[in-house]
Amino acid sequence: MHRAEPRRRHCTDTIGGRSQIREYDPSSVAETPEELYARARNALRTPAVEEWETWPFEGAVRPRALAPPEPEERELKGAGGVDCWACAAPDEEFLWTDDRWRLFALPEHALPVVVMLVPREHVAAPGDLPDDRAADLGVMLARVERAVRAVPEVGRVHVCRWGDGSEHLHWWFSARPARLPQLTGSFAAIWDDVLPPLPAEIRTANLAVVKKALG
Ligand SMILES: [Zn+2]
Repeated sequence: MHRAEPRRRHCTDTIGGRSQIREYDPSSVAETPEELYARARNALRTPAVEEWETWPFEGAVRPRALAPPEPEERELKGAGGVDCWACAAPDEEFLWTDDRWRLFALPEHALPVVVMLVPREHVAAPGDLPDDRAADLGVMLARVERAVRAVPEVGRVHVCRWGDGSEHLHWWFSARPARLPQLTGSFAAIWDDVLPPLPAEIRTANLAVVKKALG
């Protein structure tokens, strides 16, 4: 089967060349984006989301047509640290900081707490952290999760890393309210856009709990 020549630049590229991932062997790649597109474009499924307790909407849905692969990966915001919001923002814009990490509080949300943990230096992916910093990250994920869980009436804290917006490594901590089963699971992120924004005085009080818990 013909395979397109893989591009040399892909998701294992790193800032500062610290990657420990070797260039892949093209013969070992299971499926190219073009092959996936050809296989899936006329075989899309429609899960019965309207029957799921956590689905935020009423009515049936149908999948959007799958668009073909693009020639290149889209460049992330702040790629290479150029025009990067996380590099440029002063400490005053963060809820909490130390000499290696900063915690940013989203300005508007519906869930009780939504904050992001970012390293001070521009790192693109968890795998780009040197081992000592990766170990430090593990400690910080636990500390921030514990601090967000200290907010009253929080049922669970979702800890997520998505890598397709800003390149600067950032970890999401989203608290979901207790005792509302519809808000459980990954759709909590969509419910955050469906529920009305959290009143400012409640948001301020919740963030104060998080900051105090972090010390
Ligand atoms: Zn940055």
